[in-house]
Order: sequence, then structure tokens, then C-alpha cells
Amino acid sequence: MATHISRTQTTTPAAEAAREVVSYDPATGEVVGRAPLGSAEDVARAVGRARAAQKRWGALSFRERGAVMMRARAVVLEELEELAALISREAGKPDAEALSMELVPTLDLMQFFARRAARLLRPERLGIGLYRYLGRSSTIEYRPLGVVGIISPWNFPWAIPLGEVVMALMAGNAVVLKPSELTPLVALKIGEVFRRAGLPEGLLEIVTGDGSTGQALTEAGVDKIMFTGSVATGRRVAEAAARSLTPVVLELGGKDPMIVFEDADLEAASSAAVWGAFANSGQACASVERCYVHERVSAEFTSRVVAKTRALRQQAGEGADLAAMSSERQLATVEEHVREAVERGARVLAGGSRPKEMHAGGTFHEPTVLAGVDHTMMVMREETFGPVLPLMNFGTEEEAVRLANDSAFGLTASVWTRDISRGRRVAARIEAGTVMVNEVLYTHGIAQTPWGGVKQSGMGRTHGRLGLLELVAPHHIHVNRLARLHDVWWFGYTPEAARLFRSLARRFATGSALQTMLISPQLLRRLFDKRRGA
Ligand code: NAD
Repeated sequence: MATHISRTQTTTPAAEAAREVVSYDPATGEVVGRAPLGSAEDVARAVGRARAAQKRWGALSFRERGAVMMRARAVVLEELEELAALISREAGKPDAEALSMELVPTLDLMQFFARRAARLLRPERLGIGLYRYLGRSSTIEYRPLGVVGIISPWNFPWAIPLGEVVMALMAGNAVVLKPSELTPLVALKIGEVFRRAGLPEGLLEIVTGDGSTGQALTEAGVDKIMFTGSVATGRRVAEAAARSLTPVVLELGGKDPMIVFEDADLEAASSAAVWGAFANSGQACASVERCYVHERVSAEFTSRVVAKTRALRQQAGEGADLAAMSSERQLATVEEHVREAVERGARVLAGGSRPKEMHAGGTFHEPTVLAGVDHTMMVMREETFGPVLPLMNFGTEEEAVRLANDSAFGLTASVWTRDISRGRRVAARIEAGTVMVNEVLYTHGIAQTPWGGVKQSGMGRTHGRLGLLELVAPHHIHVNRLARLHDVWWFGYTPEAARLFRSLARRFATGSALQTMLISPQLLRRLFDKRRGA
């Protein structure tokens, strides 16, 4: 039976007493299902099972691990429609976005890491400069970390945790995943897919629950924590992890700027701004949250953006461009940002509030375009994480860069111009993990490219080789093939040795073979003296 509840919190006192999290459909407020509220003991047991299972898994070849991954991929393809429906229902997003922004990129990612992890993590021979002439060599091998804890948000309940699960498993780790309390059912589905694919027991443990469950995972002695979520929680996770020196990757919020220069293709740029700001109801960490437009094209760009925004279809179910926001709490933040901006003089050009005739229990906010904003307003400083596109004018390239960088965040940014060299020049000056020229938002969907931010947007990377490297321990092996020769820096600190060290400081440290040759008589004398025991 459908229960209608406004979706404020999943862990209500009643749910907590029953030790469960309740999953709601944000478009209607109906209960979709329930999942256990994991305790610290549940987390500890999951970590124990994962640690035991990892030993064998970590010793398998990449080919063997990849075979499991490709079977999981086949299961996803088999269940594509049901998965899209569940993601859409639990996260409140249109079916089309469940497919295009969650399932399609992860199918690609699964294939990429299943086939390429071996090459991305193959042992590397390092260049060690002049030490090579002393018979030395160095290699790096990449070993699994052990157990990786993944804590994930609700906005991409499939793509974010699944991508990290795939990378962690391919690197030879076991995983304990704590999904958002708003979207536990999608996460449980991830577990089911891997079970059906034959992933051995214990390698992917999913502990559903709320913040207390996440906190328990940060204190459970895992070997790394991959956290994606808000800045406030990220800080708590980092503090908890610091106590046990557990390494963390933090993928946090964004306030991503889009710069539209006067020579941009305005038709494409206006469509990109509308999609970049309103896809997933603006609840993407890389959503366009600030748009700076050159004053010469501002009027034309704005009228295109407003027309395209008004043409969007917002409804629950089939055929929608936008559906609901994920929670009442998130919707309240959006309303507050819009209200504060309007009080300070911003103008609403489209949208601006909850739609009049939507379902009473649903958490909808109209796609909203604002003009007349400035950097004193919350809507330009704090993460809105909703369907709001504030537009602001600029006059010069210098000013555009200054405005884009005037933010505590630095996840992605986007620059629009027909002049690619100008695009690259401006991109190089923007403080962000990723800057796109003539694109917005989408590079999380590319398995090969790194994802992560600077400043308050976090630390570390996921995706691509840099993301994979976060999930392994580099193991350096150094070999000396001329063990008979004693090292010149060993004991026996004679005046002659001190003279040699001075020469080494001047000549060897230049890294030049020629310079080193000039001191070779001194070096050889020291080597033979030491060999003789002098
Ligand atoms: P959130 O910080 O509220 O929650 C994230 C996860 O942390 C949830 O699973 C939650 O249960 C858990 N958690 C809560 N308290 C915890 C604690 N003390 N210790 C450990 N875990 C705890 O974030 P959210 O509202 O789910 O997600 C939205 C935020 O995520 C936005 O700020 C968005 O920008 C960010 N985000 C960032 C990226 C990125 O790649 N940079 C991607 C998606 C979302």
C-alpha cells in the first residue's frame, strides 16, 4: 500500500526504532521500500568478511577479475529497463536521465576497467638518473590496498558508487559500500548484480543506513575511504579518518562557473547552460551553478536561455525533462537561495518557485533563471544544488576569470568560445579539477578522464588512471646488481670522503653524466678504498 509522507528524513524516530531506513519516491512521497539501518557492529562484521574474502581476490589475475566484471555488465544490460525504473523512482529523476547519466556511462566504465586495468596498473620501470650507472634499478608494482570503504550520496545513486566499486574491485580490493539513506534500494541492486555475476561472497558488502552507519565505516579500520558528499560531511569524514591515519578521497560540492564569450556559438551555449543547470534537477556536483556572459551577447543569450527553460517539461514519469528533487531539505535550500537573491535585487526570468499543480507530496522546483545577481548573494557563493541558473554579465576576459575563481569551490568549469586557443588560455587560469571548453558537466561519464576538485571541492581523484591509482599501494622494489661494491656514502667518513661528498654535491647533483665523469677518479678511489676496508 502506498504511504504518503513528505520526504524530509528517512530515519524518522519510528524508522530508527525499527532500525531501518525508508526509501521514498520524491515525486509522490510514496514509500518505495525499506532497508536495514546498519549499526557499528554490522559495519565491523562487513569489514571482517571483506578482509577475509580479499586475500584470494587480490591474488587473481586482472583477466579473472575482468571476467566477473564483464558478467556483471551483462546482468546490467539484461536488467536495463528495471534498473532505469528503480533509479528513476528512488532518486526522482526522469527515466531518460537514469539511462543517459547513470547506466550508459557505467556500462562503458565497466568495460573499460575490465579490459584496461591490467595495462593501467602494469609494473613500471623508473628512470633513476645516474644511479643506473651504479648498477641500480627501480620498479613499481601496484598492489591492492585491502578493504576500501565507499560512502556515497543520493544524486547519482547508481553511477557514483558503481564506478568506484568497479575500480576498487578491479584493483584487487574488497569493498564495503555505505550508500545514502535516501537511495538504499539502488545500492542493494548493485550488490544483487554482482552476486548474479558470480562475485565471491564478502567482496562487495553493502551496509545500508544513515550518517551513523557512515561514521562507523570511517572508524572501522578500512584501508581507504572514498567519500562523495557535502563539504560538511566530508570534513567530518576526514577528521575521523585522521585519527587512524586512514587515507581518504573526498569528492565534495561544487559551484561550477560557465563563461560565455562574445564569439561563442550562442545556440549551443544556451542549450548547454540549460542542460548543465537543470539536468538531474540541478543536483549534480558539476551542475552549472553560475553563468557569466559577455555583455555584448548577454541579451541574446539570456532570451534563448529563458525560452528554452520555459519549454522544459517538468512532471513525474515518462517524457519529462525534469522531475522531482531528491528531498524536501534540498528543496528548502533552493527556495532559500532564490528568496534571498530576490530580496537583494535579483530578477526571476523563468520559474522561481514550486510548481502550482504538481503532486502534493512531491518535491518539485521549477527550473529557474535569475538575472541581476552578484557575489554577495548565497546563490552565487554557496552550493544551491537545485534547478537554478543565475546569469551575470562581464566585460573582459580578465574579469571573467576573476569572477570564476571567486569561489570557495573548484570542481569543474566551462568556457565557451569559437577560439580554441583562447579557450585553452582561459581554462589554464581557472581553479578547478576539470575545465571544459565548449562543454558542460558531462566528463564524469568518461571512464578514462580523472574526476575530482580543488579547494573545498575535495581531494584525490576517481576515474581514469589517476582514479585507479588511488585504489592501490605503490610497491617500490629497488635492486643493486653490483652488491660487491660498497656504497661510497657508507661509514668511513675520512677527510677524503668528505671531499668526495663536496664534489658530489656540486657535480653529481647536476644530474649530468659529463659532470659525474669529472669526479669519477675520486669516486673510484673511494670505492676501491672501501672495498679494501680502508
Ligand atoms: P551528505 O554529505 O549529506 O551525505 C553523503 C553520504 O555521507 C551519505 O551516505 C551519508 O549517509 C553519509 N554520512 C552522513 N554523515 C556522515 C558521517 N558523519 N560520517 C560518514 N558518513 C556520513 O551528501 P548528500 O546530500 O548525500 O550529497 C550531496 C552532496 O554531494 C553535494 O554537496 C554534492 O555536490 C556532493 N557530490 C559531490 C560529487 C563529486 O564527485 N564531487 C558527486 C556527487 C555529489
